[in-house]
Amino acid sequence: MPAAKDGRKPVGTAHCTECDSEAAFYQVQKGKRAGYLYKRCGCGCDQSSGKAKQHRWLAEMTVTGDMLPHPLAEPKPAEPTPEPTEEPAPEPAPNPRPSKGLAGLLLLGLAGLAAVFMA
Ligand SMILES: [Zn+2]
Repeated sequence: MPAAKDGRKPVGTAHCTECDSEAAFYQVQKGKRAGYLYKRCGCGCDQSSGKAKQHRWLAEMTVTGDMLPHPLAEPKPAEPTPEPTEEPAPEPAPNPRPSKGLAGLLLLGLAGLAAVFMA
């Protein structure tokens, strides 16, 4: 077992207006409340786990050490995931008409020509 079990370092500091001294914040290291802050200052040790107080502490303290993720910290706004751009299936190229139209045109032309000659 490590001897220095309680070698805790404050994770942050803030000025306590109540006792007018520098307060140190620590985080609960394990258990249900792991990550919760508690405060030590001239007022004593404040281990309130109320959401409002935890948030206030988070906001007012100056982080000085490595913090555990705080369970009540606001989750980072998720980055907007870009809409999956659905590529439209490439349209099959329209088949060039078999030369039916052309043949008809040719036939018409021939007929016209014949008409001219027969006139
Ligand atoms: Zn205080």
